[in-house]
This record gives sequence, C-alpha cells and structure tokens, in this order.
Amino acid sequence: MAYDEQNVFAKILRGEIPCNKVYEDEFALAFHDINPMAPVHVLVVPRGAYASFADFARDADDETVAGFFRAANTVARELGLDPDGYRILANHGVAARQEVQHFHLHIFGGSDLGAMIRRAAS
Ligand code: AMP
Repeated sequence: MAYDEQNVFAKILRGEIPCNKVYEDEFALAFHDINPMAPVHVLVVPRGAYASFADFARDADDETVAGFFRAANTVARELGLDPDGYRILANHGVAARQEVQHFHLHIFGGSDLGAMIRRAAS
C-alpha cells in the first residue's frame, strides 16, 4: 500500500492538527479516538511512514517493531486497563474497512466489550 503523507495521522504526528494525547515515546504516539466505540478507545501509531500493519510488520526494523508493541503495552497499563482486560485491533485494507492509511492499533476498554466479531450468517 502506498503511503500518503497527507493522511490524518501523519498530520497529527507532524503537529499540524491536534490530538488528545495520552502517551508518546520515540516509537509511538497514542491519543484518544475522535469517535470512540468504547468507554476507552485509544489509538497507538508508530512514528514512521507505514500505511498498514502489513507494511509495518514487513518493513520496520526489529527495534522499531518491539518498541512500538512495548509502547502499546505501556499505554494499556497506564490507562489502568490491565486488571479488567482490554482489546487490541488493527484494520488492514478494504475488507477490514481501514479508514486511515497509517498503521495504528485500536485499544478498547473500560467495559465488557462483547463478542470479538459478529458471526457470519450460516
Ligand atoms: P481504521 O478504520 O482502523 O482506519 O480507524 C481509523 C480511526 O481513526 C477511526 O476510529 C476514527 O474515528 C479515528 N480518527 C479519524 N480521525 C481522527 C482524529 N483526527 N483524531 C483521532 N481519531 C481519529
């Protein structure tokens, strides 16, 4: 997937538009989703230009991948989500309806999140 430098998360990373930040380090920036789907809904984005999970997993070096996932773990812990549990999700491509073409993890928590995914009709 080609990377579009004008995607909204690239603009947030460059400080061109604001975000409701919860955490940042050298590997990641985390901020509240603008349209939350759970009591806690935070997005974790790597600083580099990766359009989706597939690009990140393939192209990022090992230190970047490890640092990013450790940052996501820190975010969940600092949000106080560990004791009750939480869900992490990443959308890739059309079938998953990925809206923003910069890799991100969704962290959902703060309530019983229900079933993981709606079952297909049988
Ligand atoms: P996805 O479908 O996985 O690409 O999800 C993109 C997410 O980004 C959605 O949950 C949107 O609500 C969220 N989003 C879009 N623009 C912003 C923004 N400016 N600040 C925070 N979250 C945003």
